[in-house]
Amino acid sequence: AEEVGGGDKEVVREYFNGNGFQRWKKIYGDTDEVNKVQLDIRIGHAKTVENTMKMLTDEGSLQGVTVCDAGCGTGSLSIPLSKEGAFVFASDISAAMVAEAEKQAREELSTGKDELSPAPVMPKFVVKDLESLDGKYDTVVCLDVLIHYPQSKADAMIAHLASLAENRLILSFAPKTFYYDLLKRVGELFPGPSKATRAYLHAEADVERALQKVGWRIRKRGLITTQFYFAKLIEAVPS
Ligand code: SAM
Repeated sequence: AEEVGGGDKEVVREYFNGNGFQRWKKIYGDTDEVNKVQLDIRIGHAKTVENTMKMLTDEGSLQGVTVCDAGCGTGSLSIPLSKEGAFVFASDISAAMVAEAEKQAREELSTGKDELSPAPVMPKFVVKDLESLDGKYDTVVCLDVLIHYPQSKADAMIAHLASLAENRLILSFAPKTFYYDLLKRVGELFPGPSKATRAYLHAEADVERALQKVGWRIRKRGLITTQFYFAKLIEAVPS
């Protein structure tokens, strides 16, 4: 089998430093220069971030908890995590994304909530693909990244992310369900000009199997759908 780090990764890196950076910065931002589809995706993604924060905070305070945000994008999750007091290690394969995340974090985290609560600790940002991350974190989160990789590569990515996590791993991916599969096939027949990369869907059973292989089990599951955005959100723990 081809190792993670083959052609897909180079294409993805290039895309997220170029056209993809411009496209996703807009979608994840708050300006009104988005079309209807992009706005719908923005709303769906915001729900994924919100549900992730809920999954995490439901288990207790994040104060001082180490969290690795693998494939952090523009910092949509890293910033609220820092606001909750987590020590965030944020990384992305794209230098452009990391620079943008750092800029937004500086803007949003430079002041405290009020006079009594000091400014949060800034996330530690690095340009790194998730395959070369090391260390140990209480929690590892990887949102909307697996969509760029086929299941054959996702298996190794999931195993690696689990090896970095002491207590929990949260992943989101586009689920391979009949309806979404169909939508995607229709999309491939009429590719839009900005669809520069392939999108891969993952069956929940495949993700679950990849986790089981390394001794992890799924504890919580969620599904986020809007008209154009579909994400399965899972929280896994060592079994
Ligand atoms: N996780 C962020 C969020 O939910 O806001 C960003 C999601 S965006 C759709 C996908 C991100 O994954 C991009 O920023 C991209 O550069 C990053 N990425 C793709 N492949 C990666 C890899 N192998 N290692 C680290 N980051 C990667």
